Amino acid sequence: QKAEWDKLKDASTVTADGKHIELAANIGTPKDLEGVNNNGGEGIGLYRTEFLYMDSPDFPTEEAQYEAYKAVLEGMGDRPVVVRTMDIGGDKELPYLQLPHEMNPFLGYRAIRICLAEDQMFRTQLRALLRSSVHGKLRIMFPMIATLQEFRDAKAMLMEEKAKLVAEGIEVSDEIQVGIMVEIPAAAVIADRFAKEVDFFSVGTNDLIQYTMAADRMNERVSYLYQPYNPAILRLLKNVIDSAHAEGKWAGMCGEMAGDQTAVPLLVGLGLDEFSMSATSILKTRSLMKKLDTAKMAELANKAITECDTAEEVVALVAEYTK
Ligand code: PEP
Ligand code: MG
Repeated sequence: QKAEWDKLKDASTVTADGKHIELAANIGTPKDLEGVNNNGGEGIGLYRTEFLYMDSPDFPTEEAQYEAYKAVLEGMGDRPVVVRTMDIGGDKELPYLQLPHEMNPFLGYRAIRICLAEDQMFRTQLRALLRSSVHGKLRIMFPMIATLQEFRDAKAMLMEEKAKLVAEGIEVSDEIQVGIMVEIPAAAVIADRFAKEVDFFSVGTNDLIQYTMAADRMNERVSYLYQPYNPAILRLLKNVIDSAHAEGKWAGMCGEMAGDQTAVPLLVGLGLDEFSMSATSILKTRSLMKKLDTAKMAELANKAITECDTAEEVVALVAEYTK
């Protein structure tokens, strides 16, 4: 099987009926690029920039960030790179950013909420990203967006920093796509409104599932409720993907579910455009997708959403459609 997967390293990802799907990788540092190339990644669907902050004794400078983003963009050449702005908080701490102790850190002050409040820190990151944009195909993504206002505020800061850089004579690409992670149910529910303003969605199922099911993703005792195949999750995903397509935008996924071999047939059926996963899952997913027929998977996804009551029923249905 490994030998069969290795043959797919330089292939692009196409389903049995010839639809191209983008298979991208999740990375945490520029060092991860080697793994992306060794596994035939067609892009970076999630660059988790918080490691730049967590691996540093103090806020990383604009210059240090610029170097990291530039390295990734240059390393990927003409393949797209989705960089997620800082997502600290929840389970990820940052000693020098003295965050107050909270009762429910996953429901508290994290990610874009911190960035919009501590805007000097955020603007430094945005400037580094904008400057790096001339070195490749950059897409910027904001994490933990709950409201349209948050997206508008973050985008306005990005545009302000861009205008300042241009006024300083610094070159910035005009082709940068700006999108959001869909990982809060509120955003998934009003995806049709977001789709008019964003360039793309990437679903963060790790958080979307925990928030939808109200089951902490780190808590073993409630892990039975952490159900990627629950029809409630599938309905949210359908809404996100259909909303994106209705506005001519693309929808991807960068949570663990994107590389889950039981979920992939459902996600292909729902019409997901881009799948981003740990590099080591790419080749086996490419191999699986080659065997899937999109019309048949669309029928599977539709049945799962309209006829299944439970996650178990969905799993059984997937087995039936892929045997
Ligand atoms: C997610 O929530 O699915 C995601 C990709 O982000 P993280 O795992 O970093 O929270
Ligand atoms: Mg998340």
